[in-house]
Amino acid sequence: MNYIIKNATLVNEGQTFVASVFVSDGKIAIIVRSGEGGPSTGSGTLDSSAQVIDATGKYLIPGIIDEHVHFREPGLTHKADIYTESRAAVAGGVTSFMDMPNTVPQTTTQELLQQKFDLAAEKSLANYSFYLGATNDNLDEIIKTDPKQVCGIKLFMGSSTGNMLVDKNEVLVRLFRESPCLIAAHCEDEQTIHENTVCCKDLAAKGEVVVDASIHPFIRTSEACYKSSSKAVDMAEKFGARLHVMHISTQKELSLFRNDIPLKDKKITAETCPHYLWFDDHDYEAKSFAIKCNPAIKSHRDREALLQAIREGRIDTIGTDHAPHLREEKFTGDYFTSKSGFPSIQRSLEVMAKVLPDELPRLVQLMCHNPAVLYQIDRRGFIREGYHADLALVDMNVPHVVSDNGEYDKCGWSPYEGMESCCRVTHTFVNGNLVFENGVFHEENKGERLMFNR
Ligand SMILES: [Zn+2]
Repeated sequence: MNYIIKNATLVNEGQTFVASVFVSDGKIAIIVRSGEGGPSTGSGTLDSSAQVIDATGKYLIPGIIDEHVHFREPGLTHKADIYTESRAAVAGGVTSFMDMPNTVPQTTTQELLQQKFDLAAEKSLANYSFYLGATNDNLDEIIKTDPKQVCGIKLFMGSSTGNMLVDKNEVLVRLFRESPCLIAAHCEDEQTIHENTVCCKDLAAKGEVVVDASIHPFIRTSEACYKSSSKAVDMAEKFGARLHVMHISTQKELSLFRNDIPLKDKKITAETCPHYLWFDDHDYEAKSFAIKCNPAIKSHRDREALLQAIREGRIDTIGTDHAPHLREEKFTGDYFTSKSGFPSIQRSLEVMAKVLPDELPRLVQLMCHNPAVLYQIDRRGFIREGYHADLALVDMNVPHVVSDNGEYDKCGWSPYEGMESCCRVTHTFVNGNLVFENGVFHEENKGERLMFNR
């Protein structure tokens, strides 16, 4: 099926203008600015059987590229899987995702990595790539990674999520020297976190602190983040690695990143997530374990500094760190047993539209263009003739309150429940296929593997 998306307000490459977009054979065929004439239905120049979608009053943006998700498959599919989470993705206007290796088993060999690509080819409604996880002893596997076909290597730098901790210095040196593709790093210093945890348990035993969700940023502190991320940046500079530091949550770390050169020339880049821009430590009281995540959501000052860094170009991309857990895993235990992470992929655009109101071109840059540039993704992330037709049509004038009932992810709840939103994705195209249309999914066509121009 071919499509004509008529009279949409395109938001692309810093410009906003009314145009019609012709989608043919999976690609963006022609973009005709309003008033320029050009081909129309039945004119003979284009397929007259193309379906016309009237987009008057709506914004057409490139499909969002979420570079940081945990879809939990294989091994943890009681909370999420590639099919369910890719549905939530396209419902939120996300047309491509990059998934993390802390599944069961962990994705630490080329064979296990290929198994994930095979699963996604069968099940995913969105385009996909998968990170290979680094460990203390899989350098041989890392070196075999094809940078044209795999988004990157995930390094848990000083953090033991799923035991993927790389803590041997000689391994880190070789990784930063020899990795054939981008290193995406989770930076929190495990030793600092451990010491803070012991101290907190001591004080709790003496009745000197109440251990609830608000203690989280006092255990996973700014210092823990900085100690680890500054080490990663130092090593990347010294050994010439391409480093992307994930989920920056503190003011202190911002000095590690530059904004005086274009993104395509940067070797060290930074991501933050919608939740670090929307929530701060005042929200623990109302949201409790719903917003417990790693790194922790920190102070109001950190949040303001992150927003400023986004405006200054010191932070390059927004990834969601979509990390679903069942309600029981979040809310039935105490602080120490409550799992860290929450679902967010379906709401990322809505949240960012609240965080940066009236700045849709900037959102498109952070969520669509920049991930494409940073990862050097082949022909995606922009509305350009000849590019893959990954597109989202957004209505910015639909006031509603976010509710758990509207969640498509498997765990079925959202930390953003109760948030007032005006923004809703009405149509999502993946490779020219209309996969989501006003709450209805069309699931015949699956997403494609992302390719990289490296
Ligand atoms: Zn993550």
